[in-house]
Amino acid sequence: MGRIVYVNGEYVPEEEARVSVFDRGFLFADGVYEVTSVIGGRLVDFDGHAKRLWRSLGELDMAAPVDEDELLAIHRELVARNGLDEGLIYLQVTRGAADRDFAWPEGAAPTLVLFTQAKGIVDSPAAERGIRVISIPDRRWGRRDIKTVQLLYPSMGKMMAKAAGVDDAWMVEDGAVTEGTSNNAYIVTGGKIVTRHLGEEILHGITRAAVLRFAREAQMEVEERAFTLDEAKAADEAFVTSASTFVTPVVEIDGAAVGNGAPGPVARRLREIYLDESVKAAV
Ligand code: PMP
Repeated sequence: MGRIVYVNGEYVPEEEARVSVFDRGFLFADGVYEVTSVIGGRLVDFDGHAKRLWRSLGELDMAAPVDEDELLAIHRELVARNGLDEGLIYLQVTRGAADRDFAWPEGAAPTLVLFTQAKGIVDSPAAERGIRVISIPDRRWGRRDIKTVQLLYPSMGKMMAKAAGVDDAWMVEDGAVTEGTSNNAYIVTGGKIVTRHLGEEILHGITRAAVLRFAREAQMEVEERAFTLDEAKAADEAFVTSASTFVTPVVEIDGAAVGNGAPGPVARRLREIYLDESVKAAV
């Protein structure tokens, strides 16, 4: 693949990139991450991702390895060195390497790794045709608002979806949809866009914040509240948002068509607005 990746202050060929076997990210999933999309060589909503990263670090009492200006410089340098036009930048911070102990080590230097993934994200077949999801119980830990690298249950969810022959899974807790395995979930019902309120039960999506802002600016009604699976199945539309998929329609839930089974106008419109505005504001 021949990428240049960033590891703790150095830009190195990917084959030479190394992290210690004692790294707490490896041993304890003691780390947080961000994924920022790149369109036309520019970063979409870098500010939002940086702010959430700082919040995740703060919630885990983890040191920030660099400041925000430096972080932006590293992102840009990686885009330049890899000639990245469209795709993603993955960033991970861990508490660093220390002899294995459940208690957090004193004074370990945080590990910072970033790498690029070149891929087409704007022209998406999934967005054109819509995705199909199944529902699964939400068996993750209770602090989903912190973007940690402990993604085993979401991975299992994707595998359950794959085994069922569909694209993704929506997670359900106490009868209500929390979110998708790697995206926030929405329905359109009674003329309103409904998505779960923020709290510890879901990740505070950067795309979610932007999409809700654009929706309100476009005079669409938004309701932030829990919704049930039955409500979703009876909705006019459903969709998901994430930094890498923007706004993607959901056309089927547990084998039942949502609305007429085709991508709906609200999701289409929001994807358009989101892409227009984000590209304009990209840095
Ligand atoms: N929820 C979960 C569980 C996710 O993993 C993601 C994507 N990382 C999102 C929501 C969407 O967040 P964002 O819009 O910031 O990518």
